[in-house]
Amino acid sequence: MSNKIPYKIYLTEEEMPKSWYNLRSAMIKKPAPLLNPATLKPVTEADLAPVFCEELIKQELDDTTEFFEIPKEIFDFYKMFRPSPLVRAYCLEQALDTPAEIYYKFEGNNTSGSHKLNSAIAQAYYAKKQGLKGVTTETGAGQWGTALSMACAYFKLDCKVYMVKVSYEQKPFRREVMRTYGADVTPSPSMDTEIGKKILAEHPGTTGSLGCAISEAVEKAVTSPGYRYVLGSVLNQVLLHQSIIGLETEAALKKYDIKPDIIVGCAGGGSNLGGLIAPFMRDKIRGKLDARIVAVEPASCPSFTRGKFAYDFADTGKVCPLAKMYTLGSGFIPAPNHAGGLRYHGMSTTLSQLYDDGLLEAVSVPQNDVFEAATRFARTEGILPAPESAHAIKVAMDEAIKCRETGEKKVIVFGLTGTGYFDLVAYKKFNDGELDDYIPTDEDLAKGFAGLPKVDL
Ligand SMILES: *Cc1c(COP(=O)(O)O)cnc(C)c1O
Repeated sequence: MSNKIPYKIYLTEEEMPKSWYNLRSAMIKKPAPLLNPATLKPVTEADLAPVFCEELIKQELDDTTEFFEIPKEIFDFYKMFRPSPLVRAYCLEQALDTPAEIYYKFEGNNTSGSHKLNSAIAQAYYAKKQGLKGVTTETGAGQWGTALSMACAYFKLDCKVYMVKVSYEQKPFRREVMRTYGADVTPSPSMDTEIGKKILAEHPGTTGSLGCAISEAVEKAVTSPGYRYVLGSVLNQVLLHQSIIGLETEAALKKYDIKPDIIVGCAGGGSNLGGLIAPFMRDKIRGKLDARIVAVEPASCPSFTRGKFAYDFADTGKVCPLAKMYTLGSGFIPAPNHAGGLRYHGMSTTLSQLYDDGLLEAVSVPQNDVFEAATRFARTEGILPAPESAHAIKVAMDEAIKCRETGEKKVIVFGLTGTGYFDLVAYKKFNDGELDDYIPTDEDLAKGFAGLPKVDL
């Protein structure tokens, strides 16, 4: 059987999913609602309307609709870079001398280099449909900002990106890709917003953080007529759009009658993982699939494995709704030497609930192991992975090595979310032996937890 499976399993245009799948519709315990930070009551459509696009708010708050049809305009754009291949990692299997079958869904085949374009194009489309002038957002390492710039260029929308200052300075190439697609990129914190000025006054010389850039982008959106704020991860709407990854994977596996035993994905805010696992988690919840589903996070930013399941602020400026999630506290910032991405303090509310219910597992891995796995993967499978993606590679490889020891022929599927061409400073540090594996102590984490809001429901 296995020799019949091609190196890459593609879908035809007809076989491509025509709808997104809403994983929340299958959950028995729904994710806890977002709360209005002023009233501590569940947010309403009206609360969110000044910040987000109308159609996206509907998607965000809908826990019951199973499928959302993909609008033709979005599907047409998807066709430029989708379907993405599901690759049978024959070379890696051989190198690991494992009886396991390893598959990866590769999302790096587009200029932005990651899965983020799947949601960027959807969000830009709904903004355009609403007649808006433009959107604002934040970007850390720059993948989301790049994807959104591409999407906005396609639909002729204005795009304002607040880029975490340290990345703005250290990743000039990402910045130039964004500008090439027409985006306006500002290093954050900036003097452009009230919250930026306040943060700069309190912390002069700060190199910024994702939480701070979010606050600036939200402020800019609500104070600029015709603008809304868009976000590349964490939110339910983003997981919905990313379900295209899981649906394609499911369709590709079905073609060859393959059932996964272990599904692995990296988790920053949870969007690629939530998308990859969507149909599989549904089947698991319904007792139709007996598979382990594993989230992988950095040991230096361990939201799932060491965080608390509590309501928290999504941003440093505390302007966004409160979300009940596994969190390290909105003030948490990973050690300066952390190079592998996935640095958000919180996690998708959907994945947080699934983890709390024991349906999702999580492991954390130190960064030198991650870069070692990335290097091995690059040398065997040919693709230079994003450091984020390499978290999933590391754990998929560990599972395959366990199979070598037990002789089990497990089917392992993992998400290869992107390429690492813009992460060469991180690779350089690894190659020069300059990465350390600093893992936050309980005292380090206690500082973040101390900033959790007191919300009793
Ligand atoms: C943004 C990003 C991630 C992490 O984000 P999630 O929302 O957790 O998926 C992972 N890999 C790549 C390549 C990314 O750009």
